[in-house]
Amino acid sequence: MERWPWYLGCIVLTGCALGRVAPSAPPKGSQIVRGPMVVEADFQLKGDDPIIGQLTDLQSVVGTTLQLPVTSQPVIVHIFSSSDRFHQYLEHRFPGYPVRRAFFIKHQGRFEVCAQWGEHIVEDLRHEMTHACLHAAVGDPPLWLDEGLAEYFEIPPHTGGWHASHAELLGREYVAGRWRPHLPQLEALSSPADMTQLNYAEAWAWAYLLLNTTPARRELLVHHLNSLSQNAASQPLGELLYRNEVAPHDALIAMLSRESKMK
Ligand SMILES: [Zn+2]
Repeated sequence: MERWPWYLGCIVLTGCALGRVAPSAPPKGSQIVRGPMVVEADFQLKGDDPIIGQLTDLQSVVGTTLQLPVTSQPVIVHIFSSSDRFHQYLEHRFPGYPVRRAFFIKHQGRFEVCAQWGEHIVEDLRHEMTHACLHAAVGDPPLWLDEGLAEYFEIPPHTGGWHASHAELLGREYVAGRWRPHLPQLEALSSPADMTQLNYAEAWAWAYLLLNTTPARRELLVHHLNSLSQNAASQPLGELLYRNEVAPHDALIAMLSRESKMK
């Protein structure tokens, strides 16, 4: 069955879902336009709200950090004032699908991010907007990389991409002997529904290793994304990494250990 390039709370919906999608009923309350990004909220959201600045800056940071080609892909961001309003919309658009706090949908050229206002709103919108940036520039990035980078950029900029809770989880599981980094295994995952919290954490760790350790690793990632954006055939990033290095999995563990002590 053809996979549709949608994300619903990081779950790819399958083709059989298409006929069940109801027309959009976006929030009506306020609309803020920032370039190709349109934010619609079902309450009075001011243009100078920090969340608007966060999203605008994020697009710039993601593009600059990953050296992504600039696109004018419109992205509609829907923000709901309550979980009830959000769930009503979700049920209207995607009846029967699991409830999520936020999601990114790409369908027929339309990019949409939806989230409910709450304590996780910044993290959720940053995560889903990172998906939108990647898909706009790269097309369909590998699942693990898509999620790893979304986890990397979802946290506030001052953290430098260090996701403390993921690092703690990986450290705990490593010490207990229940986890060892295995990028090829991660690359083999094709459905977000198969990704565990540990998979998300490991995907983030690889993204962190690639972006924050050596210029060669960062260049490898940038070059890989650039190849994908040009639809050029590219080997999996893991193969390229293992060709350049003897044991990047050991480097990943060393990075986690070193950085955890410094944070
Ligand atoms: Zn995601």
